[in-house]
Amino acid sequence: MIRPPNVTAPAFDAFLAESAAAVGAAWVKIHDEDVHPYGRVMVPFEDDVHMPSAAVCPQSLDEVRAVVAAAQAHSVPLWPTSTGRNMGYGSSAVAVRGTVVLDMRRMNRITDFDPELGTVVVEPGVTYQALHDFLEAGGHDFWIDFPGPGPLVSPMGNTLERGHGMTPYGDHFANSCGYEILLADGTLFRTGLGGISNTTSWQANRHGIGPSLDGIFTQSNFGIVTKMGLWLMPAPPAHKTVLAHWPNRDDIVKLVDVIRSLRVDGTIANEGVLGNATIFLAAAKRRSAVFAGSGALPPDLALTEMRAVGLGAWNYVFSLYGRPDRVESDWLAAQRRLEDSGATLIPDVRDGTQINELTLKSFALFNWVGGNGLAWFAPVAPARGRDVKRQFDLAESILSKYDLDFMTGSQFGTREVLNVIPLIYDRRTPGRIDQVRVCFNELIDAFGRAGYGFYRTGIGFMDRVAALQGTAREDVNHRLKRALDPKGILAPGKSGIW
Ligand code: ADP
Repeated sequence: MIRPPNVTAPAFDAFLAESAAAVGAAWVKIHDEDVHPYGRVMVPFEDDVHMPSAAVCPQSLDEVRAVVAAAQAHSVPLWPTSTGRNMGYGSSAVAVRGTVVLDMRRMNRITDFDPELGTVVVEPGVTYQALHDFLEAGGHDFWIDFPGPGPLVSPMGNTLERGHGMTPYGDHFANSCGYEILLADGTLFRTGLGGISNTTSWQANRHGIGPSLDGIFTQSNFGIVTKMGLWLMPAPPAHKTVLAHWPNRDDIVKLVDVIRSLRVDGTIANEGVLGNATIFLAAAKRRSAVFAGSGALPPDLALTEMRAVGLGAWNYVFSLYGRPDRVESDWLAAQRRLEDSGATLIPDVRDGTQINELTLKSFALFNWVGGNGLAWFAPVAPARGRDVKRQFDLAESILSKYDLDFMTGSQFGTREVLNVIPLIYDRRTPGRIDQVRVCFNELIDAFGRAGYGFYRTGIGFMDRVAALQGTAREDVNHRLKRALDPKGILAPGKSGIW
């Protein structure tokens, strides 16, 4: 049996016994067949490297408090998860082998809904599907914004990782408001105006007086978030989803510049997704059906395939929302400017992720090669054509050395582009996990040298990515950690914070 580092067998046994007393013995998982699924990863590490020692599954805040108290008493590290999917970033596996997973998926209540303000408060285990069903069952005319694997994952987990989706509410952190947080020493507090007795405005104002604290509990290990407020998008009276495609790989510079102008002036209100030919091909076909050669997929092959179905080297799917007259005038403005840049437009396409329809379509990508290997490489580019091109050229040149196909599903912010680049590989091929890990590290280093950072990263790469941001920043994170969790009980190593 695995134990957390520096925890003696009697101390660990005492922790497990106290946890069982709190949550019930059936909800403390210690047998291999129950624990191994938590350590099963898609990122390029053998499962054993990031395997937890156990998982504890509380059902209520009181139970979480009791487990945290036991962890504190016996110096046992806990890795909190909400629905624990986090695919391609580490699933529910832990940064430090032997850390205990605190699996909160049983805490799945929507504890508040305000139809006037369009806000909800969710516990960790509420899935996007459950929230969607709740709104639909009540006949409430709100949309939710969700990431690719929407139906299965949680607003809490995705927002705490600062994930993105596809509607105008796509920046999940920016559309969350008011957290309830449990610190390692048992302190429970609320951010924003949530601490006022009989608070009226917890989900209305994020900051209150004093430092704005929500952000430091995202991508961090300073506390366990037990409740989170979210803003909902009123269902728009009209919407229109458009696919713009450009024929040539070199078009990337001008198309990024024109999309930026449409994003910054508000003509296009959602991020949308900008994909190259290969990612569109991978969503439609298996690799073996189109390519039998060795090495990375030749880019021209993907382009030929995509041209045959009326798409291009670059394909941008975005939507316009609002009153019908507004959608129409935005459409005319976007159409003119995109066509001037050489785009061909397909004016009415369907993309469920942009219009509140939950699907599992994004999983098609996982079948490209089979074998369950996926790691998202997620650099941030400023929204300038030359930078996006530089990132794509750099990524492609490094990926091809490792026989990996360059794909991107970039999310277009206003002044930033999140280049979400999947490394898709077959974990069953001997030696492949190691190669992909070496590749990923090479990518991080090369992007760092070129002056780029990342919007998100997964276990196994967190230290390397965090180090790019400088030692002073690392030191500040470390001091915050010491202040809020001096024993280092919560998620050691998360985001490179120790
Ligand atoms: P999802 O299933 O929605 O993809 P996860 O539950 O896997 O998301 O959460 C992603 C990551 O966010 C976790 O690995 C953990 O580091 C962090 N996290 C998730 N939920 C919490 C929480 N309630 N409190 C603190 N950190 C959390």
